Amino acid sequence: MSKTKPNTHCPVYRCKAKAPHVDDPTVQGLFAEFSDPERTALWTMTAIGEVLNSMSADLTAGRNFALILRLRQVEELYVRALYAIFIADDGKLAHILSDEYPNSFSEMYREVNKIVLEGRGLLEVEYPGLNSGVFTAMDTINQGAHASFSAMMMVIGFARHPEHLEPYTSGRYFKHVDTYYRNLEQVHEMFKKDVDKATVLSVLINMSRPASVLFKKEQPETDAAEKKDEGDELGNS
Ligand SMILES: [Zn+2]
Repeated sequence: MSKTKPNTHCPVYRCKAKAPHVDDPTVQGLFAEFSDPERTALWTMTAIGEVLNSMSADLTAGRNFALILRLRQVEELYVRALYAIFIADDGKLAHILSDEYPNSFSEMYREVNKIVLEGRGLLEVEYPGLNSGVFTAMDTINQGAHASFSAMMMVIGFARHPEHLEPYTSGRYFKHVDTYYRNLEQVHEMFKKDVDKATVLSVLINMSRPASVLFKKEQPETDAAEKKDEGDELGNS
């Protein structure tokens, strides 16, 4: 990690902004929309619903590349919305909206996992790899997001291991994402009724118990010791 001086324009560590993000008219426009938790919840649940329907149609049509390469989208939509609504202060929100580096989904996820999911999130739990090594659900969705060869290889592997498609064909995956949709629907309803943020958060924390079933495998007690800790630095993808 390179040494960086604190930036007086932005509270986000390692941000290189040369002026406050809100000086940018584009950020101002985004801020006007997404600093409103009611609208953030509404737009995000709408987006998740559309992606979910689209992925479901892909599965039905056997378009497995299209399905797998988009796995991170719904996770990212959900996590970023919760981060923006419940965790980020105005400075951090302006940073996210600016699309400046650092722009790490993993870091937002860790915060959301700690505060909303009470540490029960499964995206960074390591599982034995299919052939060698270990992988995390986070690795898998990131490979998909980058449309990498290994993500393609995973899809190619479905031909020999159709059982790996089971979370999708059984509907488990779609049920998991539908939970995101319904949680945001309730969050939106509460903000619409002017329920205060702390109360909405505590209701959401309650609704998020127990953890979602996606990526839940029977052997999370692998001895794979070291936690992966590299953030996934994304560009404006
Ligand atoms: Zn910044």
